[in-house]
Amino acid sequence: MIPLSEAQQHVLDQCEQLPVVRVPIRSARGMVTAEAVFANEQIPPFDNTAVDGFAVRAADLASASETDPARLRVIGTIAAGAAPTAPVGAGEAIRIMTGAPMPEGADAVAMVEWTTIDGDDVLIDRAVGVGDAVRGAGEDLQPGDAVFAAGVELSPGHLGVLASIGVYEVSVVRQPVVGVFSTGDELIEGSQPLKPGQIRDANRHTLLALLERDGFEVIDLGIIGDDEALIEAAVQDGVSRCDAIVTSGGVSMGDYDYVKAVLDRVGDMRWMQVAIKPAKPLAFGTVAGTPVFGLPGNPVSSMVSFELFARPALRKMMGHSQLQRPIQVGSAAQDWRRGSDGKTHFVRVAIDQDHGVFSIRSAGGQGSHQLTAMAGADALAVLPDGDGVEQGAPLEFFFINP
Ligand code: AMP
Ligand code: MG
Repeated sequence: MIPLSEAQQHVLDQCEQLPVVRVPIRSARGMVTAEAVFANEQIPPFDNTAVDGFAVRAADLASASETDPARLRVIGTIAAGAAPTAPVGAGEAIRIMTGAPMPEGADAVAMVEWTTIDGDDVLIDRAVGVGDAVRGAGEDLQPGDAVFAAGVELSPGHLGVLASIGVYEVSVVRQPVVGVFSTGDELIEGSQPLKPGQIRDANRHTLLALLERDGFEVIDLGIIGDDEALIEAAVQDGVSRCDAIVTSGGVSMGDYDYVKAVLDRVGDMRWMQVAIKPAKPLAFGTVAGTPVFGLPGNPVSSMVSFELFARPALRKMMGHSQLQRPIQVGSAAQDWRRGSDGKTHFVRVAIDQDHGVFSIRSAGGQGSHQLTAMAGADALAVLPDGDGVEQGAPLEFFFINP
């Protein structure tokens, strides 16, 4: 068996970042910037008011109070989107709406809530400071400022910033197109009654959904029987259309485990026995330069193997620098007994949170075929080799959702 970190490094070393593409911001959410983006205008583009109210000269309101309001003559109105026409002189005010440009002469805005209209005048019952309620031009961005660095995952907020500076196309790292197939003569698709020995394919649906959740494009390559020629054809078809392939089943020590045999023959493969439970076997290789992840068939194992090997590598391909899930520490809500077997165990757990304090309990049956506990798990807890942990002991874990 080899340590998990060695297996992960081996996989990462062979997965290269994909080429840079320009995409419309409408399709760029979740993608990673390939280069820094610079502002070419200032944001906000002009001094404008943060509130609805009256543009004034602060000096005119210096002694204003509720008992002795200042009286200013209202000489006009500026709506958002309009250009100011006249300057504000001493003893004058202009009614102004949020987002409208500040007129010349004015240096502050008094909120409408502090004012009363009296004929052509406005009475303002408190003083304001120079600059109050004014959003200065360029407060957020100046021309030449780096808006984002390279390597940033574009969030909805980022896309709004790009739109605000008139950048509607952005250079990002292309996200991998990932083909998925399941292997096994026992697998069927559909709700028809099972014939003896048959089960329904679970892994392909899980893996396709995991990939989509993580921002990858998917191609469903179906179910392939335990037949070397068919598996080889599926691999060749997959590598011709995809940037990576994820398969499940056929990588252990059974008589019909042909995935590793095929990868060994047509690719550059390493078959690894990783010191973890579940998901000990992993057949990882490249076929014509395309990474192929031969994950184990047991449904929990295939998900755990996806989390530990495929997800980080695919994230690297799409330009992420944070590849692994961040490790957290919580407290075991129960005893976890285990025997020493040279492996790190990944336990399916539910996390109860109280003000950032994590309490960790089992999510259910821990067999590698028991997918329900994996489905209900918030996280995988990391139980190091040894005899386990006691209730109350610190325990490392990482969230696996979303
Ligand atoms: P294998 O890795 O091919 O030896 O499969 C290990 C176990 O996982 C066997 O019990 C298989 O029937 C089961 N298995 C393999 N592939 C799938 C799948 N796609 N969905 C559900 N169970 C599977
Ligand atoms: Mg099989």
